[in-house]
Amino acid sequence: PPADDAVVVIDAHGLPYLDARKPVKQRVADLMARMTPAEKIGQMTQAERGALAKQDDIATYLLGSLLSGGGSAPAANTPKGWADMVDGYQLRAQQTRLQIPLIYGVDAVHGHNNVIGATIFPHNVGLGATRDPSLVERTGKITAREVKATGIPWNFAPCLCVSRDDRWGRAYESFSEDPALVSRMVSIVDGLQNNGVLATAKHYVADGGTAFGSSTTGDYTIDQGVFTGSRAELEAIHLAPFVEAVRRGVGTVMPSFSSVGDTKMHAHRELITDVLKGRLGFKGFVISDWQAIDQIPGDYPSDVRTSINAGLDMIMVPYAYVSFVDTLTAEVAAGRVAQSRIDDAVSRILTQKFELGLFERPYADRSGLPDVGSAEHRQVARAAAAKSQVLLKNDGGLLPLPSSAKVYLAGSNADDLGNQAGGWTISWQGSSGPITEGTTILQGIRGRAASVTHSADASAPLAGHDVGVVVVGETPYAEGFGDIGRQGRTLDLSAADRAAVDKVCGALRCVVLVVSGRPLALGDLSGVEAVVASWLPGTEGAGVSDPLFGAVPYTGRLPFSWFRTAGQLPLNVGDAAYDPLFPYGWGLRTDPARPRLKAVRDQLAKGDGTSRAAAAALSVALASRNWTTDGSVRDTRVVLASLGVAAALLERSRSDTFAQDDAVVSVARDVAQAAGRRPDLQAAADHEMAAGNLRKAVDLLTQSAR
Ligand code: BGC
Repeated sequence: PPADDAVVVIDAHGLPYLDARKPVKQRVADLMARMTPAEKIGQMTQAERGALAKQDDIATYLLGSLLSGGGSAPAANTPKGWADMVDGYQLRAQQTRLQIPLIYGVDAVHGHNNVIGATIFPHNVGLGATRDPSLVERTGKITAREVKATGIPWNFAPCLCVSRDDRWGRAYESFSEDPALVSRMVSIVDGLQNNGVLATAKHYVADGGTAFGSSTTGDYTIDQGVFTGSRAELEAIHLAPFVEAVRRGVGTVMPSFSSVGDTKMHAHRELITDVLKGRLGFKGFVISDWQAIDQIPGDYPSDVRTSINAGLDMIMVPYAYVSFVDTLTAEVAAGRVAQSRIDDAVSRILTQKFELGLFERPYADRSGLPDVGSAEHRQVARAAAAKSQVLLKNDGGLLPLPSSAKVYLAGSNADDLGNQAGGWTISWQGSSGPITEGTTILQGIRGRAASVTHSADASAPLAGHDVGVVVVGETPYAEGFGDIGRQGRTLDLSAADRAAVDKVCGALRCVVLVVSGRPLALGDLSGVEAVVASWLPGTEGAGVSDPLFGAVPYTGRLPFSWFRTAGQLPLNVGDAAYDPLFPYGWGLRTDPARPRLKAVRDQLAKGDGTSRAAAAALSVALASRNWTTDGSVRDTRVVLASLGVAAALLERSRSDTFAQDDAVVSVARDVAQAAGRRPDLQAAADHEMAAGNLRKAVDLLTQSAR
């Protein structure tokens, strides 16, 4: 195996494709001209590493790619164990005639989540709640560093699904039900790709828009199901984030297991070739999903030719790599797949390999190994978890809790690292318990409260405590296994969690933290003062306790509408009869509006002419006669009108002022909320904000205050 920090020094022998000084286009053309048909088809083949009959198969079948599906880890599941494993495969590829490097792929969907000890971020649902594209970009950067250190240059993330139904088992992989918010979060692609890891926009397209089946037929299929909406809906809701990803130069796209109408996405030539590669101008390559071509109707040769002719460039086989290679070879020989299609696919794959620098640096950059799971990386994960917390209810201002609090802590998810990380952690489905390194919510609370009594089932005496914290929620699952009905899951709290809530909240003032991948049916909340949506926060439990004890304010906002009863599903902002328990965009704040507004004003005052004009408008809003001494609004009308002027100016300035824009809208919301409640208008305002329509957002809030 290669030494640490190995760089392969290749004697180019005058071969243009090995000459890093030459333009990529020229290197691709030169290499293509040297390749045999078998070498080309090998490049289009991705095998599961655990399915390799022997390591030599990499050379025998000239494989272009390997993956660790569902986590498929080396025996020593450590960062170094991964680097050794991946480098070992790469070494075999380097011994082939043309020395074309393998491109190894993993699902690092919330940090390098297959590796024990890696930093685990909140799942996308939580990142969506932060509404902070630059924070999300940082999570991508750190993920890239940890992934790269283990020799892996390719991540099957982000999932750009716009989940429209909480019953879907992949709802937590979705940033939001709102395509505008999902599109903002595409910043994660930059975080990955600017740090040497190729991203995958998945699952193209409308994976989050498939219809829920009926309980009478027993067919609950929603994962890998059928999108039955109109073409306009497909484009406006589901295609939009992919447009943004392509604009940012995403390197690969993975089609969805689902169908659009009668056509499996893996066979959908119009959407893949005409729309994605044609109209959107996607220049990277299309990688299939796991064994997905097998679902195309017809025999295996038909699966292979239909998918390649639809525009797929590389197939995640993952087991039957030998028969895939043989079948595609035969289809090309018979003229049923054009040689030009093969050449296009291989050129696209090689272009990405060259651009990643894999020919020059095929092995792990081991200098990054000590950073995997480092304190510095975990600090960002903790901040992301804190920012993802959404305060849904806070009667009597119970939160934040004082550090003098004597806490009674109960519920199934108070002390379970596996549950707070969710699916796609160490294994595909994830699992309960201490499955990796990190701190649980209990440990986070212990670090902040005067005393903590932990009793998961609330069986310990309740006397002597001044506040109850009950951490309820889901256990891990991934993909179809989260389907409601099919796997016997419901969106209700478990009986044990319900009993803990009733018991603790019956005796103490209390907070319920909901650790889940989606909104749940919370039932009767009358005895509960405060409720927080904690989502799946990852390995840093302290991120949950930070805002709970006021170390940072609650600032998260709902990326999904929170239903009253599961019978309302699917429920999304913009629906005709929109009557959620908490609307899209809802989220109380624990930092006062006025200082927040002041900070934005001061920031804008340092900017260009338009920013300074907006700052002047905010100064009008800030005038002391408009506020009472305790910080609440005296003159709602003037404050909102000034915010409207500032919003109009900021919108016109077109610079990237998302943080400031967001602050203006969030203050407007606070003011409007205090004045009167039109949650429907507030949800609509949030939607406009996510779409960058700042002025419209503030106008709607002004209307809602009337
Ligand atoms: C999932 C993909 C994932 C792939 C490889 C599939 O089951 O649908 O999202 O990238 O497995 O692990």
